Amino acid sequence: MRNDNNKNIPYKIYLEEHEMPKQWYNMRADMKNKPAPLLNPGTLKPMTAEELEGVFCKELVAQELDDTTAYFDIPQEIQEYYKTVRPSPLVRAYHLEKALGTPAKIYYKFEGNNTSGSHKLNSAIAQAYYAKKQGLKGVTTETGAGQWGTALSMACAYFGLDCKVYMVKVSYEQKPFRREVMRTYGADVTPSPSDTTEVGRKILKEFPETTGSLGCAISEAVEAAVTREGYRYVLGSVLAQVLLHQSVIGLETKTALDKYGIKPDVIIGCAGGGSNLGGLIAPFMGEKLRGEADYKFIAVEPASCPSLTRGKYVYDFCDTGKVCPMAKMYTLGSGFIPAPNHAGGLRYHGMSSVLSQLYDDGLMEARSAEQTAVFKAAEQFARIEGILPAPESSHAIKVAMDEALKCKETGEEKTILFGLTGTGYFDLVAYERFNNGQMSDYIPNDEDLKKGFDGIPQFPGNEIK
Ligand SMILES: *Cc1c(COP(=O)(O)O)cnc(C)c1O
Repeated sequence: MRNDNNKNIPYKIYLEEHEMPKQWYNMRADMKNKPAPLLNPGTLKPMTAEELEGVFCKELVAQELDDTTAYFDIPQEIQEYYKTVRPSPLVRAYHLEKALGTPAKIYYKFEGNNTSGSHKLNSAIAQAYYAKKQGLKGVTTETGAGQWGTALSMACAYFGLDCKVYMVKVSYEQKPFRREVMRTYGADVTPSPSDTTEVGRKILKEFPETTGSLGCAISEAVEAAVTREGYRYVLGSVLAQVLLHQSVIGLETKTALDKYGIKPDVIIGCAGGGSNLGGLIAPFMGEKLRGEADYKFIAVEPASCPSLTRGKYVYDFCDTGKVCPMAKMYTLGSGFIPAPNHAGGLRYHGMSSVLSQLYDDGLMEARSAEQTAVFKAAEQFARIEGILPAPESSHAIKVAMDEALKCKETGEEKTILFGLTGTGYFDLVAYERFNNGQMSDYIPNDEDLKKGFDGIPQFPGNEIK
């Protein structure tokens, strides 16, 4: 609507090296209602820097706790690494527009052009840098589908750090290629739950048949860090520091669009823990928060793991073993595990506290999508635009296409921007199921969700509404 003279927009808008961001942007600085602090589950008091530094790297703790500094300098070494894998292309989806017959203008920011195949490298390289700077020997983490573990393995290899990855058992078994990429980069990969940690042994004893979950792998990775000299735990999503690093996505996008005077009307991203969406929307949300511009933001989540659209906004545990601090977030309960037929990723039970607060304040919308519809959109997108998208990213594709089709009905020439977070080469078991017509949808009923909500910690002020 706002951009009528865009006949000469190239298919791909790149940035010159000198145009790349030199600072990350922290949305929290401009939020009137700040996200609630992390709580110590023992004392129910806000986590202090000292407490957090036992688990996380020191400078990352400082970033986590800082909700007033708007801009953080990107260290030179990280800028140099970014130059090898970034800027990521901002693509005008001319082919898709034509195929849909929509007057809408569609852009996507494609983060899948590095070996890890996703945006996660943006934060992995930052976290590994701070761990190295602190003089640590290594880091531990969990990985579900494997993108974060792969990104962190690459980052640790680059900085010469040891990397211990707890990989959700079902993925470890179903995604052997992802596992081998991590090992090629030097990571030590353990299927979770495992007998290498106290919490893993406890979970195995209670649920011997379990195929694992993200929440459980987090508990193991945290334990592995705090019981080892010279190790800290790192996390690839959910935390405010991760959204900060991922702001590089939105900052690049905004610079590229500004070059052509383009203002998006709608900005769409898939939401697991919220890092790519938080990063993509950051500078745009900053403008909205400061009253300088308005945008419609849409978070898209799987109907089988609907934390924003059907979850509760309360303090909850971040992991199954309850060893992490508690976060106030939209959550399905730390015991919630999506149905076994769910193949689309984005399976974390909670959502970034920053995005949860923005959503609760009505600054962002959320939608859920069913996986067969998501894979259908993925197939259509792959055939038209050429990129084989990750199932996670395809949630954003689905809603971007829905929005574009709405414009076809109304004749509105809206500009739609979405985040294409990664490629789907390691998700071919899921594509196989879709291609064979064996994929089904399972939407949890209220009874299923209640089981998860029952596990939410109860204390005064944390009542479930
Ligand atoms: C991890 C991942 C996501 C979801 O994580 P967020 O923290 O919500 O961004 C989305 N897409 C891809 C390709 C991923 O690897």
